[in-house]
Amino acid sequence: MRHFAVIGSGPAGFYTAEALAKTYGDSARIDIIDKLPVPYGLIRFGVAPDHQSIKAVARRYDKVAEGGTVRFLGNVAVGEAVSIDQLVDLYDAVILATGAPNDRTLGIPGEDLPGVIGSAAFVGWYNGHPDFAALDPLLDGEAAAIIGNGNVALDVARILSKTRAEFAGSDIVAHALDALEGSTIRTITIVGRRGPHQIAMSPKELGELGHLDVAVPHVELSDLPVAEADAVLDPGVRKSVAHLRDFAKARDDKPKHIKFDFFARPVAIEGEERAERLIVERTALGDDGQSVGTGEIYAIPANLIISCIGYQTPRIEGVPYDERGGRFANDGGLIGDGLYCVGWARRGPSGTIGTNRPDGYEVAAAIAGAVPASETNDKAGGAGLDALLAAKGVRATSFDDWRTIEAAEIAAARADAPREKLVNHADWLKVLGH
Ligand SMILES: Cc1cc2nc3c(=O)[nH]c(=O)nc-3n(C[C@H](O)[C@H](O)[C@H](O)COP(=O)(O)OP(=O)(O)OC[C@H]3O[C@@H](n4cnc5c(N)ncnc54)[C@H](O)[C@@H]3O)c2cc1C
Repeated sequence: MRHFAVIGSGPAGFYTAEALAKTYGDSARIDIIDKLPVPYGLIRFGVAPDHQSIKAVARRYDKVAEGGTVRFLGNVAVGEAVSIDQLVDLYDAVILATGAPNDRTLGIPGEDLPGVIGSAAFVGWYNGHPDFAALDPLLDGEAAAIIGNGNVALDVARILSKTRAEFAGSDIVAHALDALEGSTIRTITIVGRRGPHQIAMSPKELGELGHLDVAVPHVELSDLPVAEADAVLDPGVRKSVAHLRDFAKARDDKPKHIKFDFFARPVAIEGEERAERLIVERTALGDDGQSVGTGEIYAIPANLIISCIGYQTPRIEGVPYDERGGRFANDGGLIGDGLYCVGWARRGPSGTIGTNRPDGYEVAAAIAGAVPASETNDKAGGAGLDALLAAKGVRATSFDDWRTIEAAEIAAARADAPREKLVNHADWLKVLGH
């Protein structure tokens, strides 16, 4: 019997467990360990609540957990409840699938002012992540700025723009829905260092901005390259740029405005007691395709500033770290003897949910090469972990516990929502009767 521990129950963790279960069949036991009592990582806490069809991928992960050889153990923080060294002693291989949940910082003056937050915090707040349930973002101003030109920036702009009715069928948490309904923000500026041809925004997400009830997107015609230049773009980017061209023609006939401010590099945030404006430098594209400052400085009024500029993997004691990449140092997923990483913890924060599948399968194949199926049972595996957690008084949640929590959330759902998420440990433990 072989024993594997996958740390993290997001897409990368589940795809890796799926691959290991297929490869080893009944000759392995796989534990998926998460610090939160509930599974699925960014599927639950990152993907936008009004994108339920994307969140439905979790049904596939359910099947993995129900397969008989895979266990889920929530409420177990690796690095706190149990160390990497202890896990490497207990299991034939330990796979870190801990994602990249920390916001990258802007590194500009004024970043600490109230009203300036990272997207991990804001997204976690509206998705019911326990670490951010009390965030209370400042929605009482007239203007917001979103820094970044990727899909997370679009999610944030859309969530700030929607009416209560437009959230029907979503699983946005009640505290966020109520606060957003009371928001006085009317202008949302999306700031990007480069231009329309350099965006990392998918056509579907961008197109959604053109169909909001009370908000209209706007692009400056002068920021768009001549239409013929679009011919060299990848088809996906070309479609996205076509949306931007439509936005440049859109009628300004709704009360909320989403303005795209291209070629603008944040240099400071100013305000007396809280953020009042984002100071930016106008940029141009250099010969290498990177942005170059022009020296022209101007201010974008903003009382709420949300940076969507990428994420980093938190360090875990004893695991080598790639400072530049903001992830674990690894070679094709291998960190060291018996220790691997997958997903965002391996590659950094890029790609879609689906990108994590080949990633997890590749690392599982490498493990299969290094750890042949065996009749022997040298490692203590899950039984050893259970004993260790019991000695420390750590009560892990099981997949059945998750089912109980899920059922309680569905039972508590508002009429127009699939569930009412429980957002903190106390609520989870209450439902479980702990
Ligand atoms: C805001 C946002 C929206 C997105 N929307 C989409 C979308 O619409 N479509 C799409 O295809 N992709 C989307 N993505 C990308 C997608 O979510 C990622 O590709 C994917 O979640 C990465 O998977 P992962 O398993 O590496 O990390 P994660 O999903 O982050 O999972 C990591 C898991 O590890 C756990 N963990 C962390 N540290 C520890 C520890 N020390 N001990 C135990 N457990 C730990 C965490 O609790 C978490 O459950 C989005 C990403 C973000 C940030």
